[in-house]
Amino acid sequence: MKERIAHWLGLEQKSPYVRNYFYATNMRASIYMALVVVVLEVWMIVRTTVTYFKPTNTYPLQYYLRNYYLYYFILLAAGTLMLVFAVRFLRGKKDHPALGRSIQWVFSFICLYFGIMVSVNDYAKGEQILTFLTMELFVICLLTWRPIVAFLILTVSYGIYVWRISGIVPVNVRLRAIEGGTEAAAGLTVATKINLFTMWLSTLMFSISNYNKTLSQARKDEDLEGMNARLSEISVKDELTGIHNMFHFRSEAEKLLGYVTTDKGNIAFLFFDIENFKSYNEKYGFHEGNDLLMRVAQMMEREFEGSLVSRYSDDHFVVLTRYAACEEHVRHLSHAVKTLQREVHLELKCGAYRPADGESDPSLALDRARFACNCIKKHYDCAFRLYDKALEDDFHRKQYIVNNIDNAIENGYIKVFYQPVVSTQDGCICGLEALARWLDPAYGLLPPGAFIGILEEYRQIHKLDQCIIRQVCRDYRRAADQGLPFAPVSLNFSRLDFELCDIVDYVQTQAQAYGVPRDFLDIEITESALTEQHDYLQNAVRKLRDSGYRVWLDDFGSGYSSLNVLKDYQFDVLKIDMKFLSDFGSNEKAQPILENIVSLTRQLNMVSLTEGVETQEQFAFLRDIGCERAQGYLFSKPVPIEQLRERIRTGELHMAKAS
Ligand code: C2E
Ligand code: MG
Ligand code: MG
Repeated sequence: MKERIAHWLGLEQKSPYVRNYFYATNMRASIYMALVVVVLEVWMIVRTTVTYFKPTNTYPLQYYLRNYYLYYFILLAAGTLMLVFAVRFLRGKKDHPALGRSIQWVFSFICLYFGIMVSVNDYAKGEQILTFLTMELFVICLLTWRPIVAFLILTVSYGIYVWRISGIVPVNVRLRAIEGGTEAAAGLTVATKINLFTMWLSTLMFSISNYNKTLSQARKDEDLEGMNARLSEISVKDELTGIHNMFHFRSEAEKLLGYVTTDKGNIAFLFFDIENFKSYNEKYGFHEGNDLLMRVAQMMEREFEGSLVSRYSDDHFVVLTRYAACEEHVRHLSHAVKTLQREVHLELKCGAYRPADGESDPSLALDRARFACNCIKKHYDCAFRLYDKALEDDFHRKQYIVNNIDNAIENGYIKVFYQPVVSTQDGCICGLEALARWLDPAYGLLPPGAFIGILEEYRQIHKLDQCIIRQVCRDYRRAADQGLPFAPVSLNFSRLDFELCDIVDYVQTQAQAYGVPRDFLDIEITESALTEQHDYLQNAVRKLRDSGYRVWLDDFGSGYSSLNVLKDYQFDVLKIDMKFLSDFGSNEKAQPILENIVSLTRQLNMVSLTEGVETQEQFAFLRDIGCERAQGYLFSKPVPIEQLRERIRTGELHMAKAS
């Protein structure tokens, strides 16, 4: 109830937005009012001056000054002041609202006072009281007042007016009375009272309705504006961490790069990655992982206060900041991240890129910063890397590889080199490993290290592996057709092959198309691909073996969870990583470890193969401990098939009898 009454009176609480809305509406209305008043007063001044100078005029200047000019000039001054202030406001100068409101009040009262004065005069002359009514309409209906204020202004002004005229007898009434031989008494007629009451009431009603309309429009606008603000906040904020998102980063960075005044030599794009965050997530779950990301985001905002900081994706963040002190900030932040918790070794890595003059693409800058960041992954205690000339060459090569893999396959730049695997019993070739080479017209011979990782990163590796499968099957067909000897070939598969295509089906189709027997193709899967538990990989390995292919575990012992892999998967051949032979002579533990691995392999019903054999001594040792197969530069480096054949033909290498 209280609220209702407050609403009727217009005394309800108003938000600053609504109060400003009312103020702005009144300022706009004031322009029309003030303009009419100014024009009117100028006209009155001119008219009075003409009257004063007419030959029939008998009144002195003082009379005109006191009775006319004084009022006209007060009104003109008030109107002009109001007009100037309102125009300023509409032009965007919204300062001194209290002064603006005061001017509005003063102007309104002057108008009302003027209306009453002129109309009291007119009433006395028996004329219509139009000035009073017009001023009431102007003040009460053009401007928006709270109902209680409108009521008070109206009632007081009507009261004063009625009080002033109730003691006057209009000239025409007096004349009519004289004509009728009576004396006219002062006082309002019933008709005049009713007319004035009707005008008072309708003006009040109009004012209240105007107030309510303006109030509801103001609230609607406020809601809309609030919604817009919320929407635009959502569109630029990262949902999880609450810091800005990439949409905001890109648009702001673009603007900054576009300004001619930006000193590009002094800014840097930073790309952050939290190394080992995955392990943290796995250990503590997503909830804790998210919590950590939020903390890192806040730390980052604090460290780079005043710079552009956003979450890129997952555990990646980006910053656009001044280059000068950024390395120091990164070190500080990196230390803070390390000390957040002790259980998982988290390392914050940062790549930086300084845009050259004329560069305006933030995405490219971030790509380069990310590239620099990726370069220091797994480099213990190295937190910062600036993208420089050496990295730039690398970056271009990487771009080249990703953009040209299709082209390279189509034009036959991808070649298969074969490296023999020999039996330790007789030294004869019992298998060949197919290893990819990229013979590029621009870069020359590229080893797999230069493109396998990149193709995996950009999820293009399956294209290469399919190409190798095709070539191996074709080489087999040619050899078979020409009656040349050929040994079973092992193919290297990437973990991603199983995700990006149905690689098992592809091998089967190609083998069928070229008539390659199943036992002529073996599949090598590197140990690091299997360290994460993926059901689909277990299924894929099983499917391959069920289809009659032998599956080899490549690079055994290179990772941290080699034994787990043996527990979870079944393999036919265990390829012992070459790192055990690399320190064969210098590390006394290398030999017993190798011996044990070979014995374990036997117990698990697998064939053992050691890679990286470079000396006769190593070979003899492997034979003595019972390792069945060996591969390495001692026998041959990976070579094209023709070269391999030539070596076999010259008796340098020997094929096993069965081949
Ligand atoms: P990997 O499968 O372990 O291949 C063995 C690597 O060791 C080959 O390097 C080979 O040249 C090298 N190697 C062999 N014997 C010796 C030796 O006695 N001493 C030394 N120092 N190195 C030796 P490559 O050809 O550069 O291949 C590197 C890796 O690239 C391969 O390791 C394999 O993981 C990957 N890769 C090669 N070709 C393909 C392919 O077609 N597809 C996929 N997905 N990966 C491939
Ligand atoms: Mg291999
Ligand atoms: Mg290997």
